[in-house]
Amino acid sequence: MAKRDVKRCAFCRGEEGEGRPMLSLSAELNICFPCIERLNDLMFRSEPKGDLAAEHVLQLISETHPELVAQTGKDIDSTLPVQECAQDELPTPEELHKKLNAYVIGQEHAKRTLCVAVYNHYLRLRQKQDDDGTEIEKSNILLAGSTGSGKTLLAKTLAKILDVPFCIVDATTLTEAGYVGEDVENIVLRLLQAADMNVGKAERGIIYVDEIDKIGRKTQNVSITRDVSGEGVQQALLKIVEGTECNIPPKGGRKHPNEHYIRVNTENILFICGGAFVGLEDIVRKRLGASTLGFASIEEGRDAKEYTEAEALSKTQPEDLFLFGMIPELVGRLPIFAPLTTLSEDELVELLTKPKNALVKQYTKLLAMSGVKLIVEPKALRAMAKQAIERGTGARALRSIFENLMLDIMYIAPSDKSIESVTLTEATVLGKGKPKITHRK
Ligand code: ADP
Repeated sequence: MAKRDVKRCAFCRGEEGEGRPMLSLSAELNICFPCIERLNDLMFRSEPKGDLAAEHVLQLISETHPELVAQTGKDIDSTLPVQECAQDELPTPEELHKKLNAYVIGQEHAKRTLCVAVYNHYLRLRQKQDDDGTEIEKSNILLAGSTGSGKTLLAKTLAKILDVPFCIVDATTLTEAGYVGEDVENIVLRLLQAADMNVGKAERGIIYVDEIDKIGRKTQNVSITRDVSGEGVQQALLKIVEGTECNIPPKGGRKHPNEHYIRVNTENILFICGGAFVGLEDIVRKRLGASTLGFASIEEGRDAKEYTEAEALSKTQPEDLFLFGMIPELVGRLPIFAPLTTLSEDELVELLTKPKNALVKQYTKLLAMSGVKLIVEPKALRAMAKQAIERGTGARALRSIFENLMLDIMYIAPSDKSIESVTLTEATVLGKGKPKITHRK
């Protein structure tokens, strides 16, 4: 009996068989179900659908049928729709700062530093297109400040103002390629997903790497005990931060042969890394003190030991970060350093009421939908701020304190139509009394 002709997929060249059923489009043209699924996936995840699907199909063809691409004489990359995602008018650092103020309380120094750095970054991208010969280097940013001081919020809000894709990754979940954990390249996939799989858009996005201080080298003496986990991840991150061509598996996870990758260049992606850097201020104080050979450092007429946390952090030098466990190469790629301060009691009070999405505003709106008026007495606000400071996790603590207090009210308000208003008092916050409730007559 004559052997049946083996059908091959036009895309992946795989043979028909178990796990790879084939759809025959014509006598010579077949496509396997996994490829159909992949294309389908790409088309429906992509925005704008037409262009992006085309982009991926072209990429698949370039890999599987290079001769077709050669015939058309076109370079695949030049056919990709590179979207200009930054707004036409780039806001100036001052304008960015004003917009940030609507969402972020305090942190004036960090805001200024960030606004200038982000403005320069996007200016640099535009400059590149003009190609006047001068190369402006990318300036990634390092934010240092205690938990709940607004690091993530600053990065996220800037991305929102600039209308660029944004994602947050936790450095502690990353591992070097080949180890159990998340491949560093997967962080680029996250950004790509935030950009609706639009490569051009993702390549101008912002990635926030949280907990960067937790992947420090555990020891200063690199030659004796090499700390693979921390240093290896920093090395892997370094490549992406400085700019490289990544091959991203569209579905994430580990790479395997025969998979089609999406190519993303990280050269223009802005990296903002953040961490609490607990103890960094002591390293700075020690260096400043030691610089006067054991005598009190008389810089600004004061002993370095007396510097507040904010003062000490503002004097951070790269060598302090090396001592903290960051590798010099990575520090070199994060040239903009912005320390954040721990939020004060006044700032925490403001945080509850002033920003556009302030908690009190949000809950006032929610309750108003049930016909209930929310009143939070100024003394109650202050008591909450004080409690948050005691807990030591800044705005995070404040959020949980306020949300806990609101829980019972949010539970009864929608069902009890007789409630007219609810007042949070200082006693309520201190646990000495229930919220005051007034009923409709
Ligand atoms: P961090 O990244 O420094 O640990 P986040 O930015 O995640 O802190 O902040 C935690 C929460 O507190 C978020 O809900 C954020 O909106 C709020 N928050 C923190 N700092 C500020 C600030 N300076 N102004 C307004 N809200 C803030």
